[in-house]
Formats: sequence, C-alpha cells, structure tokens
Amino acid sequence: MSEQTAQTGRKSFKYKLKPTPEQEQAMSEILWRCRVLYNAGLQERKEAWEKCHITVTRFQQEAQLKDIRAEHPEYAIVHSHVLQDVLARLDKGFQAFFRRVKSGEKPGYPRFQGRDRYHSFTYKEYGNGARLDNGFLILSKIGRIAVRWSRALEGTPKTVTLSKEADGWYVVFSCAEVPAQPLPLTGQETGIDVGIKAFYVDAHGHLCQNPKFFRKAEAALRRKQRKLARCEKGSKNRQEVKAQVVKQHQKVKRQRCDFHHKEALNLLRQYDTIYVEDLQVANMVKNHHLAKSISDAGWAQFRSILDYKAACAGKRVVAVPPHYTSQVCSRCGAYVQKSLSVRTHVCPACGLVLDRDHNSAIEIMGRGQRLRGVT
Ligand SMILES: [Zn+2]
Repeated sequence: MSEQTAQTGRKSFKYKLKPTPEQEQAMSEILWRCRVLYNAGLQERKEAWEKCHITVTRFQQEAQLKDIRAEHPEYAIVHSHVLQDVLARLDKGFQAFFRRVKSGEKPGYPRFQGRDRYHSFTYKEYGNGARLDNGFLILSKIGRIAVRWSRALEGTPKTVTLSKEADGWYVVFSCAEVPAQPLPLTGQETGIDVGIKAFYVDAHGHLCQNPKFFRKAEAALRRKQRKLARCEKGSKNRQEVKAQVVKQHQKVKRQRCDFHHKEALNLLRQYDTIYVEDLQVANMVKNHHLAKSISDAGWAQFRSILDYKAACAGKRVVAVPPHYTSQVCSRCGAYVQKSLSVRTHVCPACGLVLDRDHNSAIEIMGRGQRLRGVT
C-alpha cells in the first residue's frame, strides 16, 4: 500500500448571501448584462463563421471590451474581469464544441442563453472587484453584502462567483492550498458496480440502496412538471408553478449531492483502493436500457465526488475497462451471456451462483488488481 501524503488542493466553498433589495437588484443587473454580452459574442462568432468562414477568437473579443464599456455606460458599471470571464466561458463552450466535432461525437453548437439558463458571474481574481472584509463580501460598485457563514472558509480564495438560485443569491469561493484531510488506511480494497435498483453493489456483496426520499422528491417533481404543462402559457398561475418546479429541482439536486458525499466518505473510510468501471469507455459501450442510463447519469456525479474526496483523503480510485464485466464469471473467467433482465449469474463452467451486480463488482476488483499487479 502506498504512503499517505498530506496534499493540498483546490476546493470550492459556497455560502448563502443576505443582500439588501438594492444589492439584489444590482447583481441581477450585472447578470443581465453578462447574458447579453454572452449572446452577442456568440452571435458575432456565428456570423463571422457563417458569412466568411472566419474564426473569431476570445482575445479578439476581449479587445473590444474597452470600446463597449466606453460607448455603453451600462457596461462601464460591470467590473472588467467579470466581462472577460463571460467571454472566457463562451470560448470554453466553443472549445468543447470543437473537441466534440473532432472526436466524432454529437457536436451540439453553443446555445444562446435565455434568462432561465444564465445564473452566475465570476470575478476571476480574488481581491480585484470582490474580496472579504470582516466577514462581509465586498463587491466593487455594489458594496458590503452579508454572508451566511455555514462553514469555515479554508485555503486561499482565488476566484469569486455570484450565483442566483431559486431561493436567492449565493457566493462561491474557489480556494487553492486547501489542506487535505487524510483518512486512516485500512488495508482493504473493493470494487463497485452501478446497480439498476440499488445505487451500487460492492465486491463484498454490500448493497447501497438509493434513498427513498429520492423517489419521493422525484415523483413530486414529475407531478409539478405535469401541472406546469397544463397551465396556460403566459398566465400568472404558470409562473407560480414554474417557480415551484425550479425549487423542487434544486431540492432534488441538493439531496442527491448530499447523498453522494455521504456515500463517498463511507467507502473511503472502509477502503484504501476502490475499483470502478472506466466511465469514458463505459459511455461508448453504453447500454441503451432507460433505467440503466438514468442511473448512469447520477453515477457520473458520484464518480467525480469520489475521485475528489479520495485525492483529499490520500486514498485511491482506479478505473478499469468495463467491457463485459457483467458477462464474465468472476471466479473462473468463463463468458456467461445474459440479458439485463437476468438478475443472477449462474456459471455453467464452475458452478458459481451470485447476484449479477455482485459478480460484476468482484470482476471489476479483479481486473483492477491485475491491472495494478497486486495479485
Ligand atoms: Zn465460473
């Protein structure tokens, strides 16, 4: 087993803000300007390409900011770094688009952002336009905003993002040099497999269930969405129902995120190495069964939380090739083909009878250990 190293890393800290109505208004105004700039930048890139096959770069667009701010006083009140960040986000969208085109994926051209889709703006350098002072967040031209300090801020703040959510405004500090908190080593390893009914099954046969409140909250969300579909367009009632849908969405998102954090910590306390299927490859050999692809979607988030927490805790997550993990016998390696509806692995070669997902989890651990040369 590896030595534990005390590392430091990057981490985000999010707090609810308690702005005055005037401050809220001012932040909404900035958000509005940012969105207009984003869409204008997108329009410019789109036209230049369609009309003359010219690629407009981020730096060409940034160079125009000075004139924009001189000609439009409503932009002069927005900090220049915030505007630069808008163009950087747009550029990021294009880079991702080019990457997808290159790799032959469905490209998905960057989209124009409606009011409901643009939620945040960023000061890219802490201390320049946004900083803390005696527990207050100071934004240039807006003033001192009260912060609800729900946890301690650690490390050195690098960027400051203001985000408007269904229940109000939040600030997110992205901090560097956040001290890692290693967990004690246990000498244990396991493999985990995404379940269809359970959240995951590990190589020791332990089943982690999806919490019930999930299904409840998701059912409530579906009900509200159906209600929304029945509301007359433009009616006051529709606006109210829509606000409820957004709030419910946020609740589901938060609950899922909490659950993922808790489960990741649970695994990392017990095991030093956790073997999982390689997601990037798994996406390519994707099973098009609906329930499976939905569980996969939540799984991607869990994986990134697990990776991150493992790095902080001085533990290890190892991704292994996912091909046929559910079809191979974990004891003798025989290929035992079965459709998704067959829940039990029965090996005609060696006689192993095991829950299907449990067999996969053992196979995943075995592959990982062979990959690392520990068996
Ligand atoms: Zn077998």
